[in-house]
Amino acid sequence: MGNYKLVCISGGETVVDECSLSCKLGHNSLLRSVYDKKYISIKPYGGVFKFYDWLPVHSVIKTEAAPVVFRSDKISNELGLENLWIGFTGYYPERGCKVISCTFKEMESLPTYARLNDHGGGTIVLASAGNTARAFAQTALETGNRCIIVIPKSSEGRVTITEYDDYTNNVRLFTVDGDYADAIHMSDRIVGLGGFVSEGGAKNVARRDGMGTVMIEGTMKIGRIPDHYFQAVGSGTGGISAWEASMRLIGDGRFGNKLPTLNLSQNSPFTPMSKAWNDGHRMILDKDLGDPIVDITKVYADVLTNRNPPYSIAGGVFDAMMDCNGHFYEVSNDEAISAEKLWMSIENVRPDPAASVALASLIQAIDKKQVKSNQTIFLNMTGGGMDRVNEDYNMINVHPESNIPLDVSDDDLRRLICV
Ligand SMILES: *Cc1c(COP(=O)(O)O)cnc(C)c1O
Repeated sequence: MGNYKLVCISGGETVVDECSLSCKLGHNSLLRSVYDKKYISIKPYGGVFKFYDWLPVHSVIKTEAAPVVFRSDKISNELGLENLWIGFTGYYPERGCKVISCTFKEMESLPTYARLNDHGGGTIVLASAGNTARAFAQTALETGNRCIIVIPKSSEGRVTITEYDDYTNNVRLFTVDGDYADAIHMSDRIVGLGGFVSEGGAKNVARRDGMGTVMIEGTMKIGRIPDHYFQAVGSGTGGISAWEASMRLIGDGRFGNKLPTLNLSQNSPFTPMSKAWNDGHRMILDKDLGDPIVDITKVYADVLTNRNPPYSIAGGVFDAMMDCNGHFYEVSNDEAISAEKLWMSIENVRPDPAASVALASLIQAIDKKQVKSNQTIFLNMTGGGMDRVNEDYNMINVHPESNIPLDVSDDDLRRLICV
């Protein structure tokens, strides 16, 4: 036991891990895990747990789900790149990728449940626009854990799991009339009823270190830390995770001593972090959010529409971008769709719309000469394969237990949830 400790990034003090999301001193800061092992060795555990040395867990869960990294001569030729490496996390069996919930969110749900079980278990409450919901639902089912999920009504039908006789003990789904921000608010109210565990978002170190395994896998395959990292972001947690993983990889000593340039992208017209970053400020201003209610309905990749991302917080997206000389890209729906067509003409799997945004941002970067054709470029295709998973599994829809009115009273909410 005891292969890591948590420190508060802002205060520097060590925090005793009780599945903690923040320090006790009230710093506006993320915590970070610091691992005893500076030198990572791959462990003989399945899936993402092969990176056990750098996951904040003591136990492991049996799984095959892990990111894969591959090269595609055809895509490299199309883009005119000599050193392109593609990270893929989804369902794509001929590339050896078997992530049933089809996104890198499953790299988050697996260590999150392992860590929760290390600390006595519990029911996780989370809000999602769809992808996080599928990941936690699938992991809860496979491991006998429990979750309560709140999604916007418009995301109904997106929470699919492998066929299961009775999932209702493990997965409870509720909808709200509203958007992702309303779902977050409702999940916070549910946590406030007491007796539940918040998933924690970017504050959850298991989430970040789980997402960071994509960068570890990439670096190990390439043999060095890449020059550039490309990812589409909504909260930016994946970008923070890639930065933190890169710092650990530098500490390891075998993979170089230079951080990758972070190339993060958002889908216009909703691009608050991109606007704040390109204006050079640490705070997201109202003008950066535009007209969120309307703009959010216009984007192709709606998993990228977080209104309250961990941008300014110590150890968050702004700090990551400063440290990594980052660039932010704004990708239009047309650009994302045409990038997706290019991908589909070569690879045999449909990307998640967010992954298409990432590919489109790489095409932009090439056009703007932000990358050189001989640089080592790592493209994180964060999800895909919803089209392929149905070929091998009988996927079923999780049905919402009820729709919660936004103005529900605490007593009524308790009656709905605490049955
Ligand atoms: C959640 C998600 C993202 C964005 O992740 P961040 O938390 O913003 O880093 C990108 N792609 C897919 C497929 C996602 O599900």
